[in-house]
Amino acid sequence: MLIPLKICAFLNMFAYMVLSFSPFFVGGSSTHTNTEKPAITSNYTAYPLSSSFKTDDDYWQDEDVDVSRIQPNRKLLALTFDDAPASTLEEIVAVFLSYNQAHPDAPASATIFCNGARITPASTPAVAAATALGFELGNHTQHHYDLSTLTQGQLQQEIERTDKLLYPFDKRHLHLLRAPYGRLTDEVRLAAKTPIIDWFIDTNDWTGIPEECIYDAVWQNKADGAIVLMHDGYPHTVDALKQLLPDLYEAGYQAVSVSQMAKAHGCKLKVGCVYTRARKQGKKG
Ligand SMILES: [Zn+2]
Repeated sequence: MLIPLKICAFLNMFAYMVLSFSPFFVGGSSTHTNTEKPAITSNYTAYPLSSSFKTDDDYWQDEDVDVSRIQPNRKLLALTFDDAPASTLEEIVAVFLSYNQAHPDAPASATIFCNGARITPASTPAVAAATALGFELGNHTQHHYDLSTLTQGQLQQEIERTDKLLYPFDKRHLHLLRAPYGRLTDEVRLAAKTPIIDWFIDTNDWTGIPEECIYDAVWQNKADGAIVLMHDGYPHTVDALKQLLPDLYEAGYQAVSVSQMAKAHGCKLKVGCVYTRARKQGKKG
């Protein structure tokens, strides 16, 4: 890409320093202010809950997840978009649609983590279009609060309200959870009725970095089974995607949703556990 990696790293750091002191919003216009990595993360290996109220039988239900068009010889990458539905969702869907028409042998998908407060009559068509294209809808909570500050009752309300708002689109009562800012505590994991999805690759696209840096964050760190954090609402992300999807294809990858990747790789995701990757099970590498 045009911008050397070292400059990308510098721009990333600079944007982080500036935005760390930006005003903090919650609700429909929320924005990220912190790239601090969550304290609790794991790979496929399930992170044990400190409480024991959940049993080993609590797995993510993936019977209806379609993996029929995932090519078994391809490496998989799960692209995820937070803070949806926002201003670029229609464009993101259009990029995927165009890519899929050109690559019908290995169609791409993604997981869109939605804030319930952002689902309005105006944004409903974009969410419906994303669902129609086969995107998975995820739960990014109702108001994008820092979940580490909420009570157990508030946590459950933040999650359940968004689940209910997503139901009309995908007819699923429960959705994979992504915590705003990646802030995770045992209380959050206790409140979750589904697996919690963290990330392996952080593009930092929300900081306003150029598309080349977003591209390079994915390109330089791509790995089979990795989960990539991106955001809806940033035009540079859309521009990066236009180049990323065909280049990933040429490199032997297929972009899929988190649930598709877990199912195709034989990973049974557990409720309340945190995942940054879903690596292929039963095979080395
Ligand atoms: Zn967010």
